[in-house]
Amino acid sequence: MPKPDCRHIQVTGLVQGVGFRPYVYRLAQRLGLQGEIRNRSSGVSITVQGQMAVLDQFLTELRRNAPGQRHEFSVNVAAATAHSDFVIAPSQSDAGIAGTLLADQAICEDCRREFHDQSDRRYHYPFISCTSCGPRFSICRRLPWDRINTSWSRFSLCAACRQEYESPLDRRFHAVGISCPDCGPVLFTADGLQGEAAVRQACAVLERGGVVAVKGGAGFHLLVDAQNPAAVARLRERKRRSKPLAVLAPTFEWVLENAHTEAAERAALKGSAAPIVLLKACGGIHESLAPGLGTLGVMLPSSGIQLSILRMLQRPLVATSANLSGAPLIHENDTALSALAGIADAFLLHDLDLVQGLDDAVLRVMAGQPVSLRLGRGFAPQIHTVPVAHSSLGCGAHLKVNLAMQERHTLIVGPYIGDLQGAGNRQRYLQQKSTMPAFFQIDAGTEVTDLHPDYGSSVEADDHALTVPHHVAHAMAVWLEHQPEPPFQALTWDGVGLGPDGTVWGGECLQFDAGMEWQRLGSIRPFQLPAGHDIARFPGRIARVLSGETYPGRSIACSSMGRLIEGLAALAGLREENLFEAQVAMEWEALGHRASQALHMDFSWVGADLDWRPLLPLVADRSVSLSARALGFHQALARAALRQCRLGRGDSVLLSGGVFQNRLLVELMVAGARELGLKLLLPGRLPPNDGSIAAGQCVALAMGAKQIGVAQQCA
Ligand SMILES: [Zn+2]
Ligand SMILES: [Zn+2]
Repeated sequence: MPKPDCRHIQVTGLVQGVGFRPYVYRLAQRLGLQGEIRNRSSGVSITVQGQMAVLDQFLTELRRNAPGQRHEFSVNVAAATAHSDFVIAPSQSDAGIAGTLLADQAICEDCRREFHDQSDRRYHYPFISCTSCGPRFSICRRLPWDRINTSWSRFSLCAACRQEYESPLDRRFHAVGISCPDCGPVLFTADGLQGEAAVRQACAVLERGGVVAVKGGAGFHLLVDAQNPAAVARLRERKRRSKPLAVLAPTFEWVLENAHTEAAERAALKGSAAPIVLLKACGGIHESLAPGLGTLGVMLPSSGIQLSILRMLQRPLVATSANLSGAPLIHENDTALSALAGIADAFLLHDLDLVQGLDDAVLRVMAGQPVSLRLGRGFAPQIHTVPVAHSSLGCGAHLKVNLAMQERHTLIVGPYIGDLQGAGNRQRYLQQKSTMPAFFQIDAGTEVTDLHPDYGSSVEADDHALTVPHHVAHAMAVWLEHQPEPPFQALTWDGVGLGPDGTVWGGECLQFDAGMEWQRLGSIRPFQLPAGHDIARFPGRIARVLSGETYPGRSIACSSMGRLIEGLAALAGLREENLFEAQVAMEWEALGHRASQALHMDFSWVGADLDWRPLLPLVADRSVSLSARALGFHQALARAALRQCRLGRGDSVLLSGGVFQNRLLVELMVAGARELGLKLLLPGRLPPNDGSIAAGQCVALAMGAKQIGVAQQCA
């Protein structure tokens, strides 16, 4: 027998919280190898010893089948190991970038089966989880991913759990979140009921039409019976919320009965993030939850806690983030009890501490592709690879803010925080800014923020922060996901963002050439945007400006596509005031979706800029149905967008900005692009809205994006 060889293998990527160590342990045992595996902050290190041919087989299987994502392996010859067997060794901290932890994972199929299995010892256990599922980022204090570093640390394992934890063949072998009814957390009510009795009481309140605050795996939800209009109205009134409400569906079958779904939507619903998916509604339930929109946000239960409630009630529930206006999602019992006292009729709490509150993620399928709209639970933290190494901290913009941080080639994108107007959100933002780089062991270096000096991110940025124009950050975020070779174009259409020329941009077509040099290829005919932070609330004012009235107050030149669309929809007679963000645009889209006929209209051109004036009389023509005008407008916009892109160099077009949350517009454009030989590249993991700005800022800096012929600080 030849002398055995020994190898040291370092694995980085998403390797923690995925059952990586148990997998490797079983593989090494099966092949009769000696050595050890341990988690480090920056990844997993393996020492493995055996005959060369067997080591090769080990490496082949490891590369092919190891759980997790984005693995990178480095293999080196090592000195002989002292182990006579293969063991899982204690974790160690090290100095590398800790991009190892997966986002929270919704309950897996195996755990769901056990939850419903009367003979299983975790039957109806609300905190059921395994190596493949359960809370991750929301309960992790520091890396490496080990029970001692999470909120599970204060729950000692019972003998039965200990045995599973130590049994290589058990599916909870070394599961960080292993627990059971004998040793795990408990659900309880504010008045001291526990376990099943607590759930029963919460369900009784829901049945009577009450509002219940429920602590889940990543924060608090407010729940009401979705089929009880009085209960829904009560929730809206107490939360002073007119936004669309999402539904927590009791079963997948319920979703199929109440919405039209396509394959990508069904896959997203059942995916490991269990996001809210915006579906085309049928049945009547959406009319009280998302009136006038034709869509319904639906999610499936993501935890045993939600299953515990739904199995008793067997009906759909409205589930909305429990937060106060301008403040982040509540994730602590004490805060919930005080802040939600006037909103919730009852509380269902538990004693597993949440380190981070994570809102539900939101997703919409457009042109068959899943597009994230909110980086919530399950979608963040996100890890990307940037082709050029750099160090930076992306500070975001002002709305839908999150953080991003890059060191070397690794870019980590943090979760959705919210809008920075509110003091509570701003506090959460600053807290993340001071803790997240350390959590991920990233030396983020330079801060990079929005060009607009009054945005919350810029106000809070340090004095030496670099700036990136808003729409360049938008473009670079989508570029990161597809990385087309220049030349390419980016259509960046959103509400408002400061352009480098000092005017308000938002309807730009940017041309990118070699070296990420960019210039504005085209835009829209500018109009005077009434000043004031609440202008987005009053599309009627924009309609009057577009019609030629002079606005009496202060105004600023703008080329905002978002405001133009809303102004035209208001001109059509849809509504003067938005009760929630972009309401009139969403209703306009919904009308277009439903239309059987379209009123033909077209933009005219001033050079490469779209001139909207020819649309005014047609959009305002009350002799034609609203829906025909809505569809005609969307068709005209899609045609004009594609024609504008054809004026540029390159066949790839990135779509970015909040306007591209409009499915009707995106699908009309995708259909038209094929004929013109254009390739439209949609946002995917990063959202089209400002939730991608922080990431785009880091990428713009790393890639050296710069405006042609303009001396500048950066970008
Ligand atoms: Zn599981
Ligand atoms: Zn136990």
